[in-house]
Amino acid sequence: MDESEAMDGLCVTECTRCPKLVDSRSRIVNGAGPEDADLLFVGEGPGANEDEQGEPFVGRSGTVLDDGLRTVGLDRTDIRITNCVRCRPPENRDPTKDELANCRGYLETEIDRLDPDVIVTLGKVPSEHLLGRSVAVTKEAGSLEEVRINGTPQRVLLCVHPAATLYDRSQEETFENALERAAELADVGDGDSGQTRLDGF
Ligand code: URA
Repeated sequence: MDESEAMDGLCVTECTRCPKLVDSRSRIVNGAGPEDADLLFVGEGPGANEDEQGEPFVGRSGTVLDDGLRTVGLDRTDIRITNCVRCRPPENRDPTKDELANCRGYLETEIDRLDPDVIVTLGKVPSEHLLGRSVAVTKEAGSLEEVRINGTPQRVLLCVHPAATLYDRSQEETFENALERAAELADVGDGDSGQTRLDGF
């Protein structure tokens, strides 16, 4: 970190690494939720609502996520949610490779400190970012992979982005099935099947 960057615990308080995002953001949107959560959800980046309110997934996608969590017996307060990039890209475009790389260290710090049972990637961008390969997310949603993140093996469960269910109703089931699997794997919510951490591999 240089002097224009600062973190306080899991929160980035200052960063000017991405000039275009510094221009388009109103604030840095950090992760939200308990710092010892078993489940960490990772989205792409803040949209307009998140930029305005300073919290991930508070717009329409957030409502879909909250509804899905409730279906599997979870509440937003049970999980941690964060994004691959913490500043809103202009016109909601995807973050660039450089922007993802610039923000990677903050995400890795959050993952390291949280040490979740399962990381759930919401959509193509976070799935590809954490797995380091191309992902056909609709096809692969619900599948689990072990990947090394900052040297530590982590379990990553792929999931479609909640917004995908708004454009394509057939993805609702895919989305909910993935959330159910996440709850099961982390032994939380209604997904408590009593399985051990390694079941499902
Ligand atoms: N979509 C995301 O990927 N992240 C958010 O925080 C909101 C919508």
